[in-house]
Amino acid sequence: MARAGHRWYASVLCKVTTELPDKPTGRQHARGTVGIDAGVKYLAALSQPLTPDDPTTLFLINPRHIRRAEKRLAKVQRALSRTQKGSARRTKAHRRVARLHHEVAERRDTTLHTITKQLTTRFATVAIEGLNVAGMTGSARGTTAAPGKHVRQKAGLNRSILDAAPGELRRQLTCKASWYGSQLAVLDRWWPSSKTCSTCGWQNPRLTLAVRTFHCDACGLWIDRDTNAARNIAANAVLSGTQRAGTVAPGSGETQKARGVPVRLPALRGRKHETKKREDTAPPGTVPPRRSDPPTSPNPRQEQANLF
Ligand SMILES: [Zn+2]
Repeated sequence: MARAGHRWYASVLCKVTTELPDKPTGRQHARGTVGIDAGVKYLAALSQPLTPDDPTTLFLINPRHIRRAEKRLAKVQRALSRTQKGSARRTKAHRRVARLHHEVAERRDTTLHTITKQLTTRFATVAIEGLNVAGMTGSARGTTAAPGKHVRQKAGLNRSILDAAPGELRRQLTCKASWYGSQLAVLDRWWPSSKTCSTCGWQNPRLTLAVRTFHCDACGLWIDRDTNAARNIAANAVLSGTQRAGTVAPGSGETQKARGVPVRLPALRGRKHETKKREDTAPPGTVPPRRSDPPTSPNPRQEQANLF
């Protein structure tokens, strides 16, 4: 039994043998690969719409549950701080804060589960970027030796990143891909997905985070920055052998999870020590496309992506 917020949870662990699909269905196959750019403005931008012929589903809206609840949370936290230590009122106020935090977590969890199921059941391949959340959300203030710049902005960005919970999105995609016959593909984290034109491969080295639209000087493409990145991810991510369908034992995912209670599951692949994603420097051995050069091989998914 475990308590979270105002609720008690019982976990039941059982061993069930299930046949896992070893390949995508015809329908999944027909839709091919979806590239996902997990972001701040949206929960994710996709390389093709989640629902065919509905371009509004190119972006999965970040419900920003925490933001919406932030005012309420601030209020109950203020009330808590005004109470006397050790008083009965303080205990009560404390409970209110915990409850609100827990409700936010539950809603976020439900949203993520819905989205990851849709992605892994509708497409044959789900492509993501090898991005590290711990690195990206490093302390805004920095250290005394290297104090952070733009502390407020960075703190706000951290909040947005943590609210969207890309790490959990990815963990769920990894599990569910194996349950529903789809495959997970990962793009090398050094690949400059935001700075490269998804149509011709030209690179814009000066693209900053504030620029929301990608404009290609070489081929004239105007495209949403995140859609462009998602298309690059779809076209260039590689299937990971260890994440092929059927390699995850049944019961290693959701079945261990009592409703709404976050349970730490053993990581399928160690990602903890990945460093922060940076597009401007590449380690030796990786070959990102050269600046202003078209890709050497024609992009097989380009035609499909251009339909939207
Ligand atoms: Zn271009």
